[in-house]
Amino acid sequence: MIVESPQHGVLMLQPRCNMTCSFCVTEDSMGTMTFEVAQGLLRDLKRRNFASAIFGGGEPFFWPYDLKKILQYASELGLRTQVGTNAIKFPADFDQWDFVDRWVIPVDGVTSEVHNKLRSFQNRHLQIVTKTLSQLKDAGRSVTISTVITKNNQQEVMKIGEYLRTLQEGEKKIIHAWHLYKFLPFGRGGKLHQAELEISDELYEQIVREVRQQKLPFQVFKRKDMLLSKTVEFYWIEQGKLMLQSKSKGIQPAAI
Ligand code: SF4
Repeated sequence: MIVESPQHGVLMLQPRCNMTCSFCVTEDSMGTMTFEVAQGLLRDLKRRNFASAIFGGGEPFFWPYDLKKILQYASELGLRTQVGTNAIKFPADFDQWDFVDRWVIPVDGVTSEVHNKLRSFQNRHLQIVTKTLSQLKDAGRSVTISTVITKNNQQEVMKIGEYLRTLQEGEKKIIHAWHLYKFLPFGRGGKLHQAELEISDELYEQIVREVRQQKLPFQVFKRKDMLLSKTVEFYWIEQGKLMLQSKSKGIQPAAI
């Protein structure tokens, strides 16, 4: 069945992060969502029969409210929960958080020269991510891998596919899906690094085709521009107001 109406609400909780990625699409001007607004929004998503709530930012573990509590709240409402995180500021027991249905973790290369070079201040990030993935696999958790395809990592995308194939081996299947994003010249990173990182539509399409020919043991999604997805609505705070953006509604204040 093809679902045409929004099913997934993305809560962009706040803009701060402990990394600086050259492709980051977050806008520094975004505000911070309060706990009460997030709760109200989750109730509204449930009332409108959304299937899942995806918590992002910035880095959601920098949200000044209780992330664990809001995830439990969403889960109790019956929403599937996903958290998009760079995995640096995880609490010690993250692999036991059974109210998180899926972690969304970035892998943008298989070598430090490529993955870490796309980010500043975290020269060991690839090592942190591979250790985290191994812990999540041992705990039987589910993850979506996100990769932003840029001029500087396009040569390693197939190798990421082979690394993920290896990670998926064995009885415990950690990878739900792999999302291949096209670099977008937006936000605090993307705008600054357009000349250095942007690839053509043709190259992006070719890389996605080649990845699909790898016949990987999980779904590979083409994510040329998430804002154009019919099934996703984005929510954030701007000048104190809750805003939403979706393909059908454009950008407008959210009435919840
Ligand atoms: S893309 Fe990088 S800098 Fe931007 S929010 Fe994610 S981890 Fe932080």
